[in-house]
Amino acid sequence: MSKRDYYEVLGVSKNTPKEDLKKAYRKLAMKYHPDRNPDDEAASEKFKELSEAYEILSDDQKRQAYDQFGHEGVNPSFSNAQGAAEGFSDIFGDIFSDIFGGSSRSGGSRSQRGSDLSYSVEVSLEDAVKGTSINLDIPSSERCSGKWQQCSHCNGAGVVRMQQGFFSMQQTCPHCRGEGETHDPNCSICHGAGFIKKNKTLAVKIPEGVDTGDRIRLSGEGDAGKHGNGDLYIQVDVQRHKIFERDGKHLYCEVPINYADAALGGDIEVPTLDGKVKIKIPESTQSHKLFRLNGKGIKPLRGGSKGDILVRVLVEIPVKLNKEQAMLLKKFKESISESENTPMKNTWLKSAKEFLKGF
Ligand SMILES: [Zn+2]
Ligand SMILES: [Zn+2]
Repeated sequence: MSKRDYYEVLGVSKNTPKEDLKKAYRKLAMKYHPDRNPDDEAASEKFKELSEAYEILSDDQKRQAYDQFGHEGVNPSFSNAQGAAEGFSDIFGDIFSDIFGGSSRSGGSRSQRGSDLSYSVEVSLEDAVKGTSINLDIPSSERCSGKWQQCSHCNGAGVVRMQQGFFSMQQTCPHCRGEGETHDPNCSICHGAGFIKKNKTLAVKIPEGVDTGDRIRLSGEGDAGKHGNGDLYIQVDVQRHKIFERDGKHLYCEVPINYADAALGGDIEVPTLDGKVKIKIPESTQSHKLFRLNGKGIKPLRGGSKGDILVRVLVEIPVKLNKEQAMLLKKFKESISESENTPMKNTWLKSAKEFLKGF
């Protein structure tokens, strides 16, 4: 059978630059890849043809020889297999990470370890700030102690090789999932599953300063495998707090204060994680003023100085006044001097007046 022209195979013209050659190859290789076209002979042939064409044309020397002498100039059966594999390595990585999400090249040895497990726990803000220890009941699996035998598919290697055009690819053995061994299907202990589900209780230390999104790794507490256990990851989720909002190492809260206290000044009590503390409110304090309690916040997990507590005071206007209170307030209102007692309003009125002159 005569070979098709390599440029034709890649669907490009003779003077296509190398970069575009690669693009054309990528596009077609994705389309005809055997994993996307299982049991399709034609696609598999196309894929081989494509790989060959790209192997030649992506190599400047071989491309030149091909342009000059055609297929005779670059008989690929004489080319160094090792060299070809190396030439592919960059594009190989690109393409296979697209198709398999990067997982295809994981070797067999890694998968012989048990799976990592992930578990999420909710902790209160108090526990997150001070650290605590919790007991977790975790579902996990243990390797069955029944009969195991060498996998007949991979002869115990845990990996199989796949020939793909010019390069061969190593894959985790699908039969034993990389274990190299298969379990007695009639096992009376696990009924052939190879593992036994078991719950275990673990004491987990939640470190001081932990925050939502932090992960605690418990080495070797994941699922069991032939060559050791996977790890267990504890994903921390800090619950919302009734009073405090967390912002990294700082805590923020809002505290309503009395109208009279705001005007006259006074002490208010605010909560911290170590109990109540007093804040002195100076006279003439306006609503939304922010007070800072230095060092009363959170000690960060990864070191550094302790955060602060930020207290925003909200001046509460009294409601449901009785007759006497209303009368006192009216009297108070009559005594107000705008320029003296309400400078904010005074300034605003002046600006408004200025602005309205223009009409
Ligand atoms: Zn196997
Ligand atoms: Zn068993």
